[in-house]
Amino acid sequence: AAKESGKGRGVRYDPRLNHRAESDAQTGAELRIALDRGEFHLLYQPVVGLPGGEPLGAEALVRWRHPLGHLVAPDQFIGVAERTGLIVPLGRWILREACRQAAEWLREHGAAREWAVGVNISARQLREPGFAAEVADALRAVELPAERLVVEVTETAVFDNGPAVEALAAVSALGVRIALDDFGTGHSSLGLLRTCPVDILKVDKSFIATITNGGGEAVVANAMIQIAEGLGLQAVAEGVETEEQAAMLARMGYRIGQGYLFDRPLPAAEAGRRLAVPVTAGVHR
Ligand code: C2E
Ligand code: MG
Ligand code: MG
Ligand code: MG
Repeated sequence: AAKESGKGRGVRYDPRLNHRAESDAQTGAELRIALDRGEFHLLYQPVVGLPGGEPLGAEALVRWRHPLGHLVAPDQFIGVAERTGLIVPLGRWILREACRQAAEWLREHGAAREWAVGVNISARQLREPGFAAEVADALRAVELPAERLVVEVTETAVFDNGPAVEALAAVSALGVRIALDDFGTGHSSLGLLRTCPVDILKVDKSFIATITNGGGEAVVANAMIQIAEGLGLQAVAEGVETEEQAAMLARMGYRIGQGYLFDRPLPAAEAGRRLAVPVTAGVHR
């Protein structure tokens, strides 16, 4: 569904993208043209320390500037791109663009902070032979150190999928960190956390939204931080929208968060300025 109006930086719902089968092929063709014409760009949402909000990194989030002028949110085209296979060239562009941007930030602002940039990778991309080589190429092309990149995948993309797990292991061997995205909403299996080379759990925003409601709603978020700590993984709270949530998450032990309370997805220049703040300069909020 479309993002709630007014929340998505001018992102608008395009009803034409909803008539699945008939229009998949057509939309796929449109996306192909859009890629050739350079109609995609990346926004970057800061990942921050809790509860204070000091910048620790950023997640690349793709947007499509439709020829009719409006911005299209990824929920409206990533699915089609996956079904039509266009996610493979589109995803390659996203990965290379995010690495290029990260390398530029590194050159401009220096390595004062140990930030990293997260890139979402779809199941279809992971299954593509040579995915790890593609990641290695993207890093090498711009001389980006592997520790500056985090690959975000969903549980569902790797659950019960040997080739995907192998691909992740090869990416991990490069020194790139692996995050399990939307954690808790997919085929959650604690076994996955042993077989998969996971470094970071991104706890889905649905578990964060209700934690301050009382009545046991915080129990899942609380269990997730315990699991992460027990396994020596980093936990990131997604979708932090209120000060109350940030404070409660910090009390639970969450040290990393992401959400509208701190920043919306930002244009690259603005996100880069966040990461440039020297560690000693304190927080920006
Ligand atoms: P995600 O990877 O879980 O990304 C987080 C989504 O939550 C983003 O939506 C972000 O704008 C939104 N968000 C951040 N903070 C808050 C908050 O405080 N409250 C709420 N309600 N939402 C918040 P976005 O950019 O629309 O992306 C949606 C999904 O589309 C992403 O979920 C990801 O699964 C997919 N996606 C986005 N960019 C890419 C991409 O480059 N490649 C692929 N394969 N998928 C992408
Ligand atoms: Mg993500
Ligand atoms: Mg997520
Ligand atoms: Mg998501």
